[in-house]
Amino acid sequence: MKTIWLVLPCYNEEQVLPETARQLREIMIDLMQREKIAKDSKIAMVNDGSKDHTWEIIQKLHEQDGIYTGINLSRNRGHQNALLAGLMTAKKYADAAISLDADLQDDVGVIEKFIDEFEKGNDIVYGVRSSRKTDTFFKRFTAEGFYHVMKTLGVDLVFNHADYRLMSKRAMDGLEEFEEVNLFLRGIVPQIGYHTAIVEYERHERFAGESKYPLKKMLSFAFDGISSFSVKPMRMIIHAGALMFLISMAMLIYSLVRKFMGETIVGWTSLMVSIWMVGGIQLLCLGIIGEYIGKIYSETKKRPRYIIESILYEETEQNEI
Ligand code: UDP
Ligand code: MG
Repeated sequence: MKTIWLVLPCYNEEQVLPETARQLREIMIDLMQREKIAKDSKIAMVNDGSKDHTWEIIQKLHEQDGIYTGINLSRNRGHQNALLAGLMTAKKYADAAISLDADLQDDVGVIEKFIDEFEKGNDIVYGVRSSRKTDTFFKRFTAEGFYHVMKTLGVDLVFNHADYRLMSKRAMDGLEEFEEVNLFLRGIVPQIGYHTAIVEYERHERFAGESKYPLKKMLSFAFDGISSFSVKPMRMIIHAGALMFLISMAMLIYSLVRKFMGETIVGWTSLMVSIWMVGGIQLLCLGIIGEYIGKIYSETKKRPRYIIESILYEETEQNEI
């Protein structure tokens, strides 16, 4: 029997956490009773610097029952870093960890399927959404568009997979080797390799509270994903530059021919247009190059991606079943 940890990043989740904890405990106890998982399996909640009572709730849960484990980050580091902190803690104790959102959007009913796939020898099991019925049209359109853009840019992603996944201990050891600061886990995990499987699930609506991923965060997350995994935007600049060079050569020949034919007209309009256009393109290119340089800057500093303030963990087995 394998020790399985559930890892939940939590940011201001006081409204959902008690119910989430209750449902997950029920599932875990059931799996323990049926001897599918070891009795020292845990539900680990990572408090990502919440401003509400999330950490107090986690502390109370831990006091009531040793199945609940808490990891308190020193401040808000964002979903991806909080998840990484949870996984890196989990791998010290568990044979595998399943990451899921604290708001019960990921169908907890398929946890057993993840474990079955793990038992079959898969090191990574991806949770893939079977449909996007519960999303608004806008979210569906942007999210699916994002996966297509990533694919065209040559980034290896699992379509419609977010961060609901199981990872074995050695897959998490592999993840630890990726030292990047701009974390985009769903881009990194496929690079780890090993045997993988897919489990389909329905994504529900957030059960209470509101999304901690507003559009602005989502866009910056998407751009992070692209610029962390693809250098194609840079190559596109080179292509655009080459094209501009060819066009300007043609224009040079054209204007020389016109000049020698004595037909020079004062070309104010075309001049203004080209100045603006070239200026615009240059600015755009500089912006994109700046983005990469910014990344190099933050990667070379090798700052810690998270700092753990305290860990609540007891080496007790679940005996009251
Ligand atoms: N989250 C986090 N830190 C943050 C933002 C979000 O740990 O800075 C957690 C949040 O508590 C939840 C998960 O990440 O468990 C997904 O966030 P949310 O449900 O708000 O995003 P959505 O499902 O709307 O994309
Ligand atoms: Mg959510």
